[in-house]
Amino acid sequence: MSQTNVVSVPRPTAVRIPLREIVPWAVFTTVLALLVLLFVTTEAGAVSLVSDGLVHEFVHDGRHLLAFPCH
Ligand SMILES: [Zn+2]
Repeated sequence: MSQTNVVSVPRPTAVRIPLREIVPWAVFTTVLALLVLLFVTTEAGAVSLVSDGLVHEFVHDGRHLLAFPCH
């Protein structure tokens, strides 16, 4: 006589996140990404927002990694 073990595995349920909870984080992330993109792409020379070059030096490797002209 053979014995079968039946194991019940619960099915995963989808987590529903309301859109009104996602929108503020999506806007925040987009603004932050655009700010980083602005600093990496245009923070140099005549269009520099910070005059001492601190931001440019901070994102300098990122500029070269993304092949933006630097010097
Ligand atoms: Zn450079």
